Amino acid sequence: MADHAFVTLATNDSYGKGALVLGSSLRKYTSKKLAVLIAPQVSDSMRKVLSKVYDDVRVVDVLDSKDSAHLALLERPELGVTLTKLHCWTLTEYTKCVFMDADTMVLQNIDDLFEREELSAAPDPGWPDCFNSGVFVFRPSIETYKQLLHKASEEGSFDGGDQGLLNSFFNTWSTKDIHKHLPFMYNLSSISIYTYLPAFKAFGANAKVVHFLGKAKPWNYTYDSKTQTVKGNVHDQTLIHPEFLSLWWNTYTSRILPLLTEHGVVKDASTGLKALSGLVCSLAFSCRFCRDEEEITEAVSQLSIAAAASPPPPSISSEERRERWEQGQVDYMGADSYDNIKKKLDTYLQ
Ligand code: UDP
Ligand code: MN
Repeated sequence: MADHAFVTLATNDSYGKGALVLGSSLRKYTSKKLAVLIAPQVSDSMRKVLSKVYDDVRVVDVLDSKDSAHLALLERPELGVTLTKLHCWTLTEYTKCVFMDADTMVLQNIDDLFEREELSAAPDPGWPDCFNSGVFVFRPSIETYKQLLHKASEEGSFDGGDQGLLNSFFNTWSTKDIHKHLPFMYNLSSISIYTYLPAFKAFGANAKVVHFLGKAKPWNYTYDSKTQTVKGNVHDQTLIHPEFLSLWWNTYTSRILPLLTEHGVVKDASTGLKALSGLVCSLAFSCRFCRDEEEITEAVSQLSIAAAASPPPPSISSEERRERWEQGQVDYMGADSYDNIKKKLDTYLQ
């Protein structure tokens, strides 16, 4: 139906890469309309590429002083990105939409989500009485948009982001109507793979949407062709089962990178390329995605990823690092390498 759309948000070019992979994965499984909200700082070339994948590329400018979001923003400057996300309720030419974070990726057709009502979402893995706002079904409505903005400016958000605000607004989600509980498979957060590994092994193959929730986003990883490993913290739990990450990179290299290169977002795909060889699917024999996706093997064997332009993966706090040390998880190759520790000791001694 023309009045249905999948909607995402990218306030900058990095999240634009995520939106492109998401859009491309959606396009593979659905004929619904695809819409992306972008902030003014998204580059022109990124906008062009987004318009190759998305039917509707919409700039949401919260800087217009007549915009009620702008007023709410003045009261709550910390909610900038959150308020941008709320703009999805203004897409009133659609009767029903599914919002998806730019760090999600679709693995199967999920058009059945449009049979659900506002506000349907999957539980958050950290606090399952709250829904995770990375994937949700909603009905665009200026009235709801205004009410949400009002709540944001009056009360802020208990977690500082959109999820806290939306959970306070749709506060009967956890108790009222089970139909509004989406199965976890519609928003499988990558952290749940290691927090409940047996469940992942039992049910993971049914995943419909994967969500790279948390600080380390797929586009932040770099791959080192010399050591044939994924660069970053060697104890990064995401890398224990890197199959979703490899699927993301597979889509990125095969479908997105050519577009980004053509439009000059990525300067030259052949320079500064790093290899993907460290990222071979560890479940290759049993993983449904790998069986389905012949391309993945192809991409892994091509081993050409332009990850050099991405920023380095986020480092962990010294407190987190101490905790890991105490649990015997020492990053000998990275932050806790002999050289790094020696440098630190030297500064103490001086
Ligand atoms: N987002 C964005 N720019 C930002 C931060 C977030 O466009 O600087 C959008 C993007 O769609 C992203 C969503 O807001 O997926 C929610 O943020 P994020 O996914 O980083 O949060 P998490 O899911 O890790 O809690
Ligand atoms: Mn997210």
